[in-house]
Amino acid sequence: MAVVPFQNEPLTDFSLPQNREAFRRALELVQSRFGREYPLIIGGERIMTRDRILSTNPANPKEVIGSVAKADRDLADKAMAAALAAFQDWSRVSPKARARILLKAAAIMRRRKHEFSATMVVEIGKSWVEADADTAEAIDFLEYYAREMYRLSEPQPLTRIPGEDNELYYIPLGVGLIIPPWNFPCAITVGMTASAIVAGNTVILKPSSLTPVVAALFAEVMEEAGLPPGVLNYLPGPGGSVGDYLVGHPQTRFISFTGSKEVGLRINEVAAKTAPGQRWIKRVVAEMGGKDAIVVDREADLDAAADGIVASAYGFQGQKCSACSRAIIHQDVYEEMIERIVERTKKLVQGDPRDPEVHQGPVADESAFKSILHYIEIGKQEGRLVLGGGPSPLASETGGYFIQPTIFADVDSRARIGQEEIFGPVLAIMKAKDFEDAIRIANDTEYGLTGSVYSRNRANLEYARRHFFVGNLYLNRKSTGALVGVHPFGGFNMSGTDSKTGGHDYLLLFLQAKAVSEKL
Ligand code: GLU
Repeated sequence: MAVVPFQNEPLTDFSLPQNREAFRRALELVQSRFGREYPLIIGGERIMTRDRILSTNPANPKEVIGSVAKADRDLADKAMAAALAAFQDWSRVSPKARARILLKAAAIMRRRKHEFSATMVVEIGKSWVEADADTAEAIDFLEYYAREMYRLSEPQPLTRIPGEDNELYYIPLGVGLIIPPWNFPCAITVGMTASAIVAGNTVILKPSSLTPVVAALFAEVMEEAGLPPGVLNYLPGPGGSVGDYLVGHPQTRFISFTGSKEVGLRINEVAAKTAPGQRWIKRVVAEMGGKDAIVVDREADLDAAADGIVASAYGFQGQKCSACSRAIIHQDVYEEMIERIVERTKKLVQGDPRDPEVHQGPVADESAFKSILHYIEIGKQEGRLVLGGGPSPLASETGGYFIQPTIFADVDSRARIGQEEIFGPVLAIMKAKDFEDAIRIANDTEYGLTGSVYSRNRANLEYARRHFFVGNLYLNRKSTGALVGVHPFGGFNMSGTDSKTGGHDYLLLFLQAKAVSEKL
């Protein structure tokens, strides 16, 4: 297959009646499947367990999206055996043939696009627009990493010396454990899994227990695209037992993780211990949290800045590691900016995201709900509450996990709500004396994922380029919504291993280079 250059998947225009109709039909289809059972898939075999993970709708937790099999250690061992066996053949399949499976999977997913998005609406509470972007990004990852494997399948040009034939090429690592998050349950799950697979590895995919159904649909797509049994083993299960066990397993060659800092650091620690019989240093690729800031300069388009802050702070209820959780504002425009942010935030429509008008759905689950509300209480001691400040009335009416978009002003940089990742619809606004002070505050965190600056001052934009220490810096643009191939994504410090997803460096994380020299 000849491939055309990569292009991002277009987003759906929901202002067109036919698109709204198609999405409604997809929601009906997804709802008609509520309660369906999803088995594990190990070596192509479907295995149902007595113990289940119930995936429920956070907007209405009584609705069970799926009753999903739950693995234990024995089944984890079985998955490891299947992945090891499949590696023998899969690692020898030509890189281009592997890439073609991703291209085929992208085509299937494109045809079933709204079905994937609608599943995320009910399984994790994404709005239509957020869900659509998530599926589009998943398709992008498949298309992009397929092309990357094409590129990497060409031997690297080496310096010639007389009398020798030299080449360098990439080979896969082995069996990888893939642990994606629930917040981009399609895009990140697909990106992490497909990248490892196209590189010639076999994997055990342990999806988040909050979003195992979207992951099951993806596993089906890969099967339909022709992926041989055992290459992708679908293994939902508890992180504490199954996850930890597989991280420590001597046959695990690498772990690709996206999630919280606490879990990421723990994985890194467990993976660093050499188990008896282990023959390699395990590779850990970890994308963790953020405490991302948007800086607003005195000379800035304040309306654009307020739009960017509100979109970044409250898109998917602030549950993105790229979300703006700190707005750092030059003192000269401080009160004006607060007004504009509050005014826009008040307009956000909250409700069940099955309704296309809804922007703010519920947060992920009860534990997220409690933890965010706890931070809001802490915020009341640390800052001036200017909007929101608790559960929304919808929460008691529906039993769903709805929280009011919340804003605190006058927050000190060292305050807990200025330092700790809340992962919810809570914004801390801070005042800066001048632009340099704003960048200093922005950098005053252990994280370093995304950051934005709104300014019309060229020298200040240049200053931010040099001094704002984040993996993804955006100038006069919101801090969320990185596009595959356009904004390779990943952060510094406690935000992770700066493993830029959707960029040219990414596949190398799942490959090792072999240099062969023959004397002629
Ligand atoms: N890549 C996403 C963005 O740019 C964020 C991913 C995440 O939250 O893990 O908004």
